Amino acid sequence: MVERTVGEGLSVATDSSISSVRPNPGGIPLRIVGVSKTFVSRGRSVEALKPVDLEISAGEFVCLLGPSGCGKSTLLSIVAGLEPATGGAVWAGEREVRGPGTDRVLLFQEAALFPWLDVQRNVEFGLRQAGVAAGERATIARRFIELVHLGGFEHSFIHQLSGGMRQRAALARALAIDPAVLLMDEPFGALDALTRDRLQIELETIWATTGKTILFVTHNVREAVALGDRVLVFSPRPGRIVREFAIDLPRPRRLEDHALVDQTAAILDVLHTAGEGPEGGPHGQ
Ligand code: ADP
Ligand code: MG
Repeated sequence: MVERTVGEGLSVATDSSISSVRPNPGGIPLRIVGVSKTFVSRGRSVEALKPVDLEISAGEFVCLLGPSGCGKSTLLSIVAGLEPATGGAVWAGEREVRGPGTDRVLLFQEAALFPWLDVQRNVEFGLRQAGVAAGERATIARRFIELVHLGGFEHSFIHQLSGGMRQRAALARALAIDPAVLLMDEPFGALDALTRDRLQIELETIWATTGKTILFVTHNVREAVALGDRVLVFSPRPGRIVREFAIDLPRPRRLEDHALVDQTAAILDVLHTAGEGPEGGPHGQ
């Protein structure tokens, strides 16, 4: 692990074992340049984000940690094109972000699935919107349903699924439209610890095989260390990046690995010493 403070410049963890398990880089780079956000409502203004600069390489997995209300979701919404920035610009590959696009998909803590559709139809939804023919839609959906280990549940409705299965379905639906970038906002935050651990491992595998660029928000330090090539820590609101850790652990990572546990502890130590513990308390367990 290499700690850098922001200002020394951002760079990417290089680990040959990562590229060896990622045969087809399918992601695009993200460039966040001086992005700031001030919300104005009913005459009151709330500065949510100070100018944020962040460069993410194609296929990189970057985790954002920070206290509640520091602007993490706001930043993801801006990158998704769902919320305009007050200042600055976001570039997804060669294109400046000016609105939502199928190259970027946002996933939330509560899987936003359609309750009136079964798993198969939920996963097919984006493909249908894109005008993909029924037969091809079904084939693609089945492939991603298998990938997230939901085989056999194609015809289940959302209320029949556990929280973890809902997140699997949401992930399959996102992957089915083949976005270059996954924006994940505490996607496992509402799950029990065992399900969370399992989904972390599976997400790492999916990322390694698809090569997507992932920007992942969590308040769990261990989760960030388990998944990220880099872990960035935001300050309390107005958010800005105050610390950066490059995570050089080999992949695939094992949650019980001593080096992973040690790195989690080391980051928690730094955060607590600096008074910047996510959510202001002990985390990462
Ligand atoms: P986080 O995801 O880090 O918990 P958010 O990005 O959700 O933080 O919010 C950052 C700040 O911006 C908070 O103070 C929040 O209340 C405020 N905020 C977020 N969305 C809006 C909005 N639509 N209107 C006004 N204030 C907002
Ligand atoms: Mg949030």
